[in-house]
Amino acid sequence: MPADGSVCVVTGAGSGIGYAIARRLMGAGWTVVAVDVDDSGLRRLSADCAAGDSLATLVGDISDRVTSQRAADCAERLGALRGWVNNAGIEIDEPAHRLTEEPLRRQLDVNLIGTMWGCAEAVRRFMVSGTPGSICSISSIQATRGFPGAFAYAATKGAINSLTRQLAVDYAPIGLRVNAVLPGGVRTPMTQADWDAAADPQVARARDDALHLRGRIAEPEEIASVVAFLLSDDASFVTGQEIVVDGGASARCVSQPFDPEILAAAGRGSNDRQD
Ligand code: NAP
Repeated sequence: MPADGSVCVVTGAGSGIGYAIARRLMGAGWTVVAVDVDDSGLRRLSADCAAGDSLATLVGDISDRVTSQRAADCAERLGALRGWVNNAGIEIDEPAHRLTEEPLRRQLDVNLIGTMWGCAEAVRRFMVSGTPGSICSISSIQATRGFPGAFAYAATKGAINSLTRQLAVDYAPIGLRVNAVLPGGVRTPMTQADWDAAADPQVARARDDALHLRGRIAEPEEIASVVAFLLSDDASFVTGQEIVVDGGASARCVSQPFDPEILAAAGRGSNDRQD
């Protein structure tokens, strides 16, 4: 899509997947309003802009409704608001019996309430402006597959899938498209923190890599390219969908070594990464 003049809000743009999405969208001609609680990440993103990139940054917590309102105001000052990416999220990695009040509330406030405020603000603005827009929210394969531990996190991602469908149905008459992207493992600071917290970070990393048919977890850019597609007019007939971007992790039900003959044909001696 020629995104010139179109503006997209990206939350959690100071790190990981959101950072890559912001860069990818700017490269495609979008003006990006990058939102994050972490000012240093946003400053890094500003410094990383290429010539011709158009970026505004906003420090704020998405669990506070005002942050979405400020982001939308900022976007509308810059041009036509046409895109909104709900990416910011946190992961409280606790099974139910260890969960305590404060982390549970925070998990829900950021991943779910924050995403809902973003969606609500975006649709209000799209209705008033009459501009056909697109919303993309970052869910997870943990919304549809069980992984040990992340009880509350998985619930928030399941809810993001539900609200995506609901929004797509409710606002189809104004031309709004709404989709969720479900990544598998992605090499970001969030994932690194998981590995660092494991008894053996090397083993944790190898286990995550092996889950994916590609033999490795994703780079943030491999998620960003799908988000950019979903926001573009190339995806004009895609709405209300859960788009899985997991290197095939959810395509198999048990993690077993590949057939040795197939590995040999691929020039690989073992069940390791493919590139
Ligand atoms: P990340 O590297 O931790 O980046 C997330 C960014 O969002 C950070 O800059 C973080 O700031 C910011 N943020 C956190 N809470 C916020 C809030 N309340 N308001 C505004 N900004 C906030 O994480 P990531 O791996 O890129 O994850 C991005 C999204 O992808 C999340 O929704 C995550 O659940 C989802 N996801 C990730 C993976 C994966 O393997 N990494 C897989 C599936 C889905 P701080 O660093 O200061 O907290």
